[in-house]
Amino acid sequence: MNESFEQVLCRWYESNHRKLPWRETSDPYKIWISETMLQQTRVETVIPYYFRFLEQFPTVQDLAKADEQQVLKIWEGLGYYSRARNLHVAAKEITEKYCGKLPYDPKELLKLKGFGPYTTGAVASIAYNLPVPAVDGNVMRVMSRIEKCFSDITRAKTKKEIEGFVRAHMKNCAPCIFNQALMELGATVCLPKNPKCLDCPVQKFCQAYQDGCALDLPIKSKAKARKKETHLVFYARDHEKRTWVQKRPNTGLLANLYELPHILVGSQEKEACRRLKEDMFLDFQTEDGVVFRVSEVMLTFTHLFTHIEWELMVADAKVLHALAGKSIGEFCTPAEIEKLPFAAPFLKIINTVFV
Ligand code: SF4
Repeated sequence: MNESFEQVLCRWYESNHRKLPWRETSDPYKIWISETMLQQTRVETVIPYYFRFLEQFPTVQDLAKADEQQVLKIWEGLGYYSRARNLHVAAKEITEKYCGKLPYDPKELLKLKGFGPYTTGAVASIAYNLPVPAVDGNVMRVMSRIEKCFSDITRAKTKKEIEGFVRAHMKNCAPCIFNQALMELGATVCLPKNPKCLDCPVQKFCQAYQDGCALDLPIKSKAKARKKETHLVFYARDHEKRTWVQKRPNTGLLANLYELPHILVGSQEKEACRRLKEDMFLDFQTEDGVVFRVSEVMLTFTHLFTHIEWELMVADAKVLHALAGKSIGEFCTPAEIEKLPFAAPFLKIINTVFV
């Protein structure tokens, strides 16, 4: 009897998949944590975070009870911090409304903070074996090629179309295996630039391969260019070698994380800072009224966020004036800094440049 696409793919997955820690469990909580960490992040990066996170918060209740700062600290360096904040909020919702168990019903999962269609599909299918598609970038690429779909994958309509393809194939196999098999094929065989078509287990079902257009798919319209900003960062230490740090606002980019103080600068200030020489200085005031005296720009580097590019000019600075109790910043010792969750670019300055 001829095997179907889904049967061949699932059989291939069962004997070829990578052994990853979250594949050794059927605990919905652990699957949720891994799927959240894996969004926009490489497997090798996620593995140590996954173990550390579960060691610190072994159950939904442990995560719900934690302080947000503890959660952000464990997440430090993994990026996209809203994922960590959402996990924390959802853990509280699960504890309060669902007695600490992730709901079985996908409609209920979808109501939880941070649960979009992908996370809902991943948890519902992998943990509960329910026929719900989990369509991420890898799956979009694989299915666009298998079905020879020339629709733009950045459009919501295309995502729906691809979810329809996945749902149709799921009828005849175990959803927990099928979804993971699609993800695995996308991660290891059906690669974006060099798909390994000759080694592909589902080559005979792939319409793009049969028609010689695998490399033309998927169709993806270009993302908007990142907005560029230059920030002057004040690296200010006192005579006890404590560093001035501050907490970011509780909304927006890098919310609630710690940072070194910085201000947005235009081209004139940027040039003035670059021309600083011995015995010269410039004074700058931050929004909360702290005046920093800058004597030298020690280094400049670029940090990329999804939609913004920051050029960071790190200056050796002194706190000239700060109103006690009015400022959002304060001097902290290295031991105190170690316990605070820092935003990645500032962590880089503290850990790499000044150690
Ligand atoms: Fe991807 Fe090539 Fe396999 Fe088609 S044959 S699914 S393009 S690797």
